[in-house]
Amino acid sequence: MVEANLLALAQTHRSDLVGFARRLVQTASPSGHEAEVAHLIKTEMERLGFDEVTTDPVGNVIGRVRGGRGPVLMFNGHMDHVDPGDPTGWSHPPYGGDVTDGDLWGRGSVDMKGPLAAMVYAAGLIKLHGLSLPGDLVVACVVMEELGGLGTRAMVSRLKPAMAVVGEPSDGRLMRGHRGRVELVVRVTGRPVHASMPEQGVNPHYALARFLARLETLPMTQDPIFGASSVAPTLYRTDQTSPNVIPGEARLTLDWRNVPGETPEEIVEKLRRLLSECLPPGAEGQVQVVTDRLTTYAGYVEDFPSIFPSFALPNDHPLLQAARHTLSQALGRPVPTATWSFATDGGHLMAAGVPTVGFGPGDPRLAHTNRERLPVAALVEGLVGYVALATRLGKVMGSS
Ligand SMILES: [Zn+2]
Repeated sequence: MVEANLLALAQTHRSDLVGFARRLVQTASPSGHEAEVAHLIKTEMERLGFDEVTTDPVGNVIGRVRGGRGPVLMFNGHMDHVDPGDPTGWSHPPYGGDVTDGDLWGRGSVDMKGPLAAMVYAAGLIKLHGLSLPGDLVVACVVMEELGGLGTRAMVSRLKPAMAVVGEPSDGRLMRGHRGRVELVVRVTGRPVHASMPEQGVNPHYALARFLARLETLPMTQDPIFGASSVAPTLYRTDQTSPNVIPGEARLTLDWRNVPGETPEEIVEKLRRLLSECLPPGAEGQVQVVTDRLTTYAGYVEDFPSIFPSFALPNDHPLLQAARHTLSQALGRPVPTATWSFATDGGHLMAAGVPTVGFGPGDPRLAHTNRERLPVAALVEGLVGYVALATRLGKVMGSS
C-alpha cells in the first residue's frame, strides 16, 4: 500500500494537480513554440510558492525550492510534444484535456505534460507543507526535447545538479538508461543525363541499392544490457523532379540507435567504409551526421547535431539503489528496474556527468499515438513517487 501520509498529501491536492495537467494539455506546445505553456508553468510555480522561478536564455523554465546543504536534485521534463496528426483519428480531441473514465486524454498527457505537472506539484507541496529537503530541488521544464534535446544540452553547460530524475513515462518502473539516436544522411553523387542514354551517365540509385542491400546484414555492436544497436533507412530523396532524367544525386536518411560506447564517429566511419565498396567509377559518396539549425521560442539559435547520447547506469549505482528503495517503500510495491526503448534528455544529463534515473507516470507505448491518455490514478502515484524521491534521495546519497 502507498504510504498513508504521502497518499493523504497527494489526495488533498488531486483536483488542483489534474486541473493543471489538463491546462497543460489544452495549451499546444510543439517544439519551438513552447512560449505559452512556459508562461503557464512559470505562473503555477510562483503560485505554489517556489523560492525562485527563472527562464534561461534558451527558454527553459527553471524552478527551485531551497533545501539543506545536501546534493542538488533535478527533476527534468520537456514542455514540447510531437504533432497530433489527423485530429479525426482521435476518439477525444488532442488538445481537449478531457477526463473520461479516470483517464486524462490528449497529446502530451503521457509524453509528458502529466509527469511534468506531477513534478511541479511535488516541489510545490514540499514548499507548501514545509517538508524538509536534504538539498535544493530544481524542476527543469525544458524546450525541444522532441528535436534532440537542445534545451537540456544547453542548460547542463550552466546548471549541473548532483543527480537527476527524468520524468518521461516509465509505467511505474525505474529506468536506468536507453540506446542513443544518431540521424545520418548518406549521399551519392553521380552524373545526371537524359534517361534515354543511361550509359552516358552515372546513376546514383544503383550505388545506393548495393549499399542498402548490404546495410541490412551489417554486423552491429552488441551490448549486454540493450542487445544490438540497430539501423533503419527512413527517407529517400533525389535532386530531380523529372521522371525522364537520371538524377545527379540521391540521399538516404538513416536512423541509427546506438548502444553505450558506440560513438557517432565510429558509426560514420563504418558507413563510409561500406559505401566506398558500393560506388562505381565516377560516383562519389558522403556520410554525415545530420545537423539542423534550430531556433527556440526565446530566439536562441544553434546548429544542432542530431545526436541523442545513449546511457546505462550500472545496476549497483548508489542512485539507482536509493531510488529503487525509496520508490518501493513509498508506493508500497516492488518497483522493477528497466530501460527505455526510446532516447531521452537523460542522455544529455549523463553525458554532462550527472547521474540520472527515470521515473514517470504513464504507459510509454501510448506516447506519440492518437490513443495517448494517462490514468489519473497513475498521475497521483507519480506525485507520491516524486515527493518521496525529492525528500529522501539526498539523505541516502549524501551519506553514501
Ligand atoms: Zn518525451
